[in-house]
Amino acid sequence: MGALDGDYRFVLLGPGGIPVSGSSGPAVPALVSRPADAPAIEIRDLRKRYGRIEALAGLTMTVGRGEVFGFLGPNGAGKTTAVKLLLGLARPTSGGGRILGAPIGDLATRRRVGYLPELFRYQPWLRAREVLALHADLIGLPRGERRASLDDVLGLVGLADRAGDLVGGFSKGMQQRLGLAVALVGRPDLVFLDEPTSALDPLGRIDVRGIIREVRARGSAIFLNSHLLTEVELVCDRVAIVARGKVVAEGTLDDVLGAPEVRVRADGLDPDTLAAVERFGRPSLDGDELTIRGLDPDLVPDLVAALVGRGARIRGVDAGRRSLEERFIDLVGRADDAAAGGAAA
Ligand code: ATP
Repeated sequence: MGALDGDYRFVLLGPGGIPVSGSSGPAVPALVSRPADAPAIEIRDLRKRYGRIEALAGLTMTVGRGEVFGFLGPNGAGKTTAVKLLLGLARPTSGGGRILGAPIGDLATRRRVGYLPELFRYQPWLRAREVLALHADLIGLPRGERRASLDDVLGLVGLADRAGDLVGGFSKGMQQRLGLAVALVGRPDLVFLDEPTSALDPLGRIDVRGIIREVRARGSAIFLNSHLLTEVELVCDRVAIVARGKVVAEGTLDDVLGAPEVRVRADGLDPDTLAAVERFGRPSLDGDELTIRGLDPDLVPDLVAALVGRGARIRGVDAGRRSLEERFIDLVGRADDAAAGGAAA
């Protein structure tokens, strides 16, 4: 199997599309870590330019072992470019990093990395087990371990009873499950999943969440690319949001989404209301909407009583923190505004 990468080099693809030949990449900055306990991914100031387009404008981040890391961004933000660079499929213009403690592009390390690309197609004339056996060969899985390993991944993705069926007869959802199985053959230490649930129905998505949790429980790190923000919110330990080639927010969901907040829509709110409800948290007023951050959820009825006591007519109360989708739209919008401001200046 082979493919032309973004730089138009021909690369031989191994398990799940991981290149098994090619260069060891450009010089790597001095990141000090020992392979055994090194982070799954550590990159520093990674940049990629395609002619006039700056696809990545200095990406720095670390993904720990056994962590589920969500990598999010709008179309064209640089997500696929980042994954290609991390897999050694394209060369950075500058910057670099390490995967499982080894320089990006290290051939031996590629055997310990699984990859489910967003768009893929397996040979329709092969049976599911044969596709997996091919990838087991490519990573050099010892013959004695192969049967148990293939049974394990087939069971994990829910294809055990279709192992002997031709891939050409698989539905889109079944193909996606097979792709996931290919990425997990040989229990890789790091797995890249690009939109793993895009072809799945709601029940299939729940299954994939379970698979991701199981893979994490086995100690593998997962780098998850998805536009389905609710899915990301449900499974990721940490997330990074990229916009225009740069990380605009990174951290745990608590870090990125902030403290829980309560929003109250009511008539009769005025600036004096803010002072009256300061004891509940940090209030702010926007038209007829009062937002209080850092409020103890048990005190929501007391807050409502205090507002009603001041003559406010409550029309809605929304308790809980903002969704990842709201935060995403906010951050990406701000990055766009900043770029537009910079361009206008
Ligand atoms: P999407 O969510 O739509 O898949 P993305 O975040 O994965 O988007 P990239 O595919 O990494 O975004 O693209 C980032 C930018 O780099 C875009 O402006 C894109 O046009 C450009 N780009 C990516 N690959 C190439 C290439 N091989 N040649 C020229 N420009 C490219």
